Amino acid sequence: MRILLTGGAGFLGSHLCDRLLDEGHEVIVMDNLLTGRGENLAHLFGRDGFAFVEHDVTHYIYVKGPLDYVLHFASPASPDDFSRYPIRILKVGAHGTHNALGVARAKKAKFFLASTSEIYGDPQEHPQRESYWGNVNTLGTRGVYDEAKRFAEAMTMAYHRERGIDTRIVRIFNTYGPRMRKNDGRAIPNFINRALSGEPLEVYGTGRQTRSICYVSDLIEGIYRLMHADYHEPVNIGDPSSETTMLDLAKTIVELTESKSEIALRPNAQIGDDPHKRRPDIALAKKLLGWEPQVTPEQGLRQTIEWFREH
Ligand code: NAD
Ligand code: UDP
Repeated sequence: MRILLTGGAGFLGSHLCDRLLDEGHEVIVMDNLLTGRGENLAHLFGRDGFAFVEHDVTHYIYVKGPLDYVLHFASPASPDDFSRYPIRILKVGAHGTHNALGVARAKKAKFFLASTSEIYGDPQEHPQRESYWGNVNTLGTRGVYDEAKRFAEAMTMAYHRERGIDTRIVRIFNTYGPRMRKNDGRAIPNFINRALSGEPLEVYGTGRQTRSICYVSDLIEGIYRLMHADYHEPVNIGDPSSETTMLDLAKTIVELTESKSEIALRPNAQIGDDPHKRRPDIALAKKLLGWEPQVTPEQGLRQTIEWFREH
């Protein structure tokens, strides 16, 4: 297939790009490098079938030649970015998704949206099934991201229903691994880098809030399978067995890095609406895709720590 991948210079996009090229597809990455980096793709320049276009997808997307699939991954994703780039996040979720759907329609290509567990907000159902409608504060600092992705899902379903586009939606739960930015702001890179440099790990709020963490290779496998499934409603991909409090996650990372860092609790006023708990129900992914996570948190965290040590 000839594939357009928006956001392909980012953490997840660059891993997905590797996988698509390894499967023999041609990939055009389109990215404005807002939170992504050329070095995530440096190993691919000059490889057959790979092309990079620097472009902001909130503006009209032009691609020469045919396309079989449009994968829309462009969007900042770290809660730190929610206050850094609130308007750009809303624009890439709205205009960016519209343009990506537009190019898919013009090329008669399939379309795949990277959505998020964040659309469930601070969930009042646990674990979260795809049928849960969510509990989002539109006005909070997270609202820009949550609402942008909720709009993107609605837009994708509208193009599917009204224009007959062959669409997929994945709801990604907290995924981690090599190529996250050191100063990304998300818990795992923050904790690892502080542990490696001997600084205190800052756990926001009470530290009792939970997340379920999924290693990047498992997520990419789930995405690749969903690309090939005949299913148009959203599908959760994440690792339910890894649910952990942030305090325990910080302790685990201190242990795995053999660090002398302390763990400090820090008020999280500016983070607003931090979900209290999060765990995916992945019954649908298991049934539809025959998918479930293979990498344990200890294995995944060790590999990620090793990568950060080297970089
Ligand atoms: P990331 O910040 O590393 O990657 C996002 C990429 O999008 C970057 O390369 C950035 O430069 C690019 N981008 C942003 N705005 C753009 C624009 N207007 N035009 C072109 N490119 C633009 O984040 P990530 O973790 O790799 O996330 C990738 C996608 O997956 C995002 O859509 C995110 O919402 C979604 N997601 C990620 C997670 C996770 O745990 N990593 C969880 C849920 C959803
Ligand atoms: N968090 C933390 N310390 C940090 C970064 C994040 O305690 O240095 C907390 C954050 O408040 C949230 C959880 O860790 O409760 C997961 O945050 P992350 O930014 O990784 O992703 P989120 O799931 O909130 O989008």
